[in-house]
Amino acid sequence: MRVVVLGAGFGGLELTTRLSEELGDDIDVVLIDQADGFVFGFSKLDVMFGRTVAAAVHHPYRDVVKPGVTFVQTTVRSIDPATRTVETDAGTFDADVLVVALGADLDPGATPGLVEGGNEFYTVAGAFAVRDVLENFGGGRVVVGVTSAPFKCPPAPSETALMMHDYLTTRGLRDTSEIALVMPLPVPIPPSPDASAALITAFAERGISWHPNQLVVALDPERKMVVFADGREMPYDLFLGIPVHRAPSVVVASGLCDDGWIPVNPLTLETRFPGVYAVGDVTSVGTPKAGVFAEGQAVVVADAIIATHRGHTNSSTYDGTGICYLEFGNDQVARVEVTFLSGAPPSGLLEGPSMAYAADKSQFGTSRIRRWFNRDWTNY
Ligand SMILES: Cc1cc2nc3c(=O)[nH]c(=O)nc-3n(C[C@H](O)[C@H](O)[C@H](O)COP(=O)(O)OP(=O)(O)OC[C@H]3O[C@@H](n4cnc5c(N)ncnc54)[C@H](O)[C@@H]3O)c2cc1C
Repeated sequence: MRVVVLGAGFGGLELTTRLSEELGDDIDVVLIDQADGFVFGFSKLDVMFGRTVAAAVHHPYRDVVKPGVTFVQTTVRSIDPATRTVETDAGTFDADVLVVALGADLDPGATPGLVEGGNEFYTVAGAFAVRDVLENFGGGRVVVGVTSAPFKCPPAPSETALMMHDYLTTRGLRDTSEIALVMPLPVPIPPSPDASAALITAFAERGISWHPNQLVVALDPERKMVVFADGREMPYDLFLGIPVHRAPSVVVASGLCDDGWIPVNPLTLETRFPGVYAVGDVTSVGTPKAGVFAEGQAVVVADAIIATHRGHTNSSTYDGTGICYLEFGNDQVARVEVTFLSGAPPSGLLEGPSMAYAADKSQFGTSRIRRWFNRDWTNY
């Protein structure tokens, strides 16, 4: 059986690792990604705020050496889900089972003025570039703003505002600066009232102004104004933006999407095309766009493939649970256990913040690198 996995992010790495652990060389798995390495989303914030350096958070795919798995660094140019055929710059791949785990693409150019007058920090390159921007920032009005929904890791803008507070304080610039957080959500983390309340309290304690239910639609770089969807404006000196998210164009062109994302069976992650699955940010499965959910979905797809390969009945279904770590600054991290799709309204249980959960978060990252890349992440 040949399994072709498109995308070596959270979903693709977990899926191929599990297939290799269970089936080894008995199965032929091809893992395709255009990048040369993996970077955790949270590492972007660590680099941006000077807590580590870019080289320390880049995990090269050349370290993906696993029985049964071949990594190919190339760009996917077209996907035919009916025939499970993929065209890439490295040739054509035919699959018995095709898994699309290509994530969400980011489009800073879709927001007028963002490229010219602001900074996005959701791409790897964007976040790493903001590190230099911050080093040269002498204080002033900082706005952290979201330009579209859905967006990856809904807690990340809140974490950014809190980490910005610490950063400016350490540099002696906090007294001459303002921090505003603008989000399209009514509360910072809708499934968890406790986590939302803790964040809103933390904003108030630090003098961070919180602007819910607001979407940023443009920047006016000449007048240094952030423009909201309702026409109101906010002055800024430094804008840190979450850019527009879309399914990668190759996925949209494949006919797999409805309303911009790939619809899947929420229990099995099957698309409407036989033998084609989709996991993670590229789907509209109903969980937030976050790595923990992509990983959980990958496990379910791996179990289905393993069962088919062994001629067993598969009983593994997706439960929509995940654990998110929330940076409060000052080395304090909270843990939120969120559940979606259980037939009840989404829920989120808050623990912390504390330094103990900072160690937990570190373990979350290092354990994935050990598992996916078979090496230690010593300089985390
Ligand atoms: C600032 C920030 C902080 C975050 N913090 C967290 C966190 O603490 N916890 C958490 O769980 N999540 C976090 N996230 C979200 C997390 O990074 C994503 O949700 C997660 O990576 C999604 O996994 P995925 O497998 O669906 O896609 P991705 O991990 O995005 O992987 C998709 C892969 O597809 C590849 N690809 C795309 N198009 C092509 C193509 N045409 N050809 C070949 N390859 C292609 C890409 O190179 C990429 O490697 C954060 C995100 C950000 C931006």
